[in-house]
Amino acid sequence: MINLENISFDHCIKCTVCTIYCPVARVNPIYPGPKQSGPDTERLRIKNPDLLDESLKYCSNCKRCEIACPSDVRIADIIQTAKWKYSPKRFKIRDFLLSHTDLMGTLSTSAAPVVNRITGLSLTKSAMEAFLNISSKRRFPAYEPGTFRRWYGRMKSEQEAFSEKVIYYHGCYVNYNDHELGKTVVRTLNKLGVGVTLIPEKCCGVPLIANADLPGARKNARYNIQSIETAVEKTHCSVVSTSSSCTFALKHEYPGLLEIDNSAVFNKIHYITAYLSRLFAQGPVPELQPVNLTAAYHAPCHLERMGGVIHTLDLLSNIPGLKIVLMHSECCGISGTYGFKKECYDIAQDVGEELFKRIADAAPDIVITDCETCKWQIEMSTPFRTVHPIMILAQSLGVYTF
Ligand code: SF4
Ligand code: SF4
Repeated sequence: MINLENISFDHCIKCTVCTIYCPVARVNPIYPGPKQSGPDTERLRIKNPDLLDESLKYCSNCKRCEIACPSDVRIADIIQTAKWKYSPKRFKIRDFLLSHTDLMGTLSTSAAPVVNRITGLSLTKSAMEAFLNISSKRRFPAYEPGTFRRWYGRMKSEQEAFSEKVIYYHGCYVNYNDHELGKTVVRTLNKLGVGVTLIPEKCCGVPLIANADLPGARKNARYNIQSIETAVEKTHCSVVSTSSSCTFALKHEYPGLLEIDNSAVFNKIHYITAYLSRLFAQGPVPELQPVNLTAAYHAPCHLERMGGVIHTLDLLSNIPGLKIVLMHSECCGISGTYGFKKECYDIAQDVGEELFKRIADAAPDIVITDCETCKWQIEMSTPFRTVHPIMILAQSLGVYTF
């Protein structure tokens, strides 16, 4: 019997808008685009799995096709599921290393200076390209010694003294690569009268999904939702995340792609700018100091997909002196681990080229974006420092100095 898990392909009206909107199809002639790789071929794949097209690997799961589709076809979900379901199950060490961020983070942070030095050497990069198919042109994000959670452990009693609290789902990036962002979130929320609680968490699963390990992603999703449900039931606190992709996964990939029911806590999970702009709207707006900068703002694809860009722009509009130059809506190209792969690196850079030019034309003092991997891509491909919107708010509140 045919198992019809995601029959949204049947809603396709063949308008081809998704193909026009797909950043990969635009630059890579080998990739037939979302319509053909998604709904068109799914009809055939469910009858004959041998019709799997190798070119599916070029889909970056950016979700831009789903933003464009007028019929609500879950195109990217169809493609990610097909990659996992119909591809031959071969263990690839490269994909394992790129997708197991908690494992790599735990190992790397214990010897961060050495790991950073070694991964930056051109000899190591060449070896990784030759043996692992990881592009030697990609710059690796640096690891920090220790973890954000260890730092938080020293702040815990201070945080417990606040009567109002939020649960912070910090994600792998803050825990292993950018403690400053996590610390700034704690200081910013504290300044606004809100304490921060951490709960047990695992990687949200986005890198596992991108590397066709849906069972692994499902396992992490189950763990995270169980942990959030337990904490919310006990404390009634909201959950915030500073990663637009983690938030997208917790809220939308879990029920949509991974079939993990998050309905009990769906309304409690917020991207941090959505949470803060609501806090500001309830008033009173805190006293904000001018931040006299011109900032180019790049909206990450997954934040666009969940309609969250408005909250970041709304929050930033409160900051006196800050001039925002809104970049055209487009993908930066990296799409998480996609831009690290040898076969995808040039595609990622071609996809991002237009954005890099527009940023250069804006000649900003700084770039703002909500996603850590967009930050890596922009900082590697342009000369501009790129920060999370919370860093700008923190500067305006006087709890962080650039
Ligand atoms: S998810 Fe992105 S790369 Fe994949 S088909 Fe859709 S628009 Fe194209
Ligand atoms: S945009 Fe939606 S309806 Fe139009 S071709 Fe693509 S999947 Fe079909």
